[in-house]
Amino acid sequence: MAHAAVCVFCGARDGHDPTYLAAAEETGRMLAGNGWELVYGAGDVGLMGAVARAAQAAGGRTLGVIPEHLVDREGGKRDLTRYVVTETMHERKKVMFMNSHAIVVLPGGAGSLDELFEVLTWRQLGLHDKPIFLLNINDYWEPVLRLVDHVIGHGFADDSLRGMLQPVKDPQALGTALRAALS
Ligand code: AMP
Repeated sequence: MAHAAVCVFCGARDGHDPTYLAAAEETGRMLAGNGWELVYGAGDVGLMGAVARAAQAAGGRTLGVIPEHLVDREGGKRDLTRYVVTETMHERKKVMFMNSHAIVVLPGGAGSLDELFEVLTWRQLGLHDKPIFLLNINDYWEPVLRLVDHVIGHGFADDSLRGMLQPVKDPQALGTALRAALS
């Protein structure tokens, strides 16, 4: 797809293992290399900053969306191709989602989990059919995948919920999966 945009949700911290930072940088380069716009939370901290700086350095287009009250805390990155400041967190997620063709979730904390489960529930409700990829580097997302299996096993969701999450093992595999999804 020409001019496709990929929304990346990820941690505002680096995590302990340097593998996470390296994977975020590789993801940024991979998105730029494929000509896909990076849509993300506009922060200059943690994996967020790493993915954006790497995408920019590789000549990629970037759209950052940040709520006013986080501009200082997350170091709003104003040198992006497009930089949007919203009033609320909810608006931030909506603008990011509306401007993307696929969702990718890199390792992150409670914020990334919130963002992941929002797009997953919207998909479960049939509000969209955008693919959702989990960058499962170091098996980071295994507990979440197990939790979803647990929810299904106990009868609180259809089996189809699990298929709405597509784990990929590294940025290269992510690129292959995105090319297939966006073609
Ligand atoms: P974290 O994964 O906790 O490091 O957070 C990653 C990003 O998600 C940060 O930019 C947070 O500001 C953001 N975030 C956390 N909670 C929410 C929320 N409810 N809506 C939108 N963004 C959020």
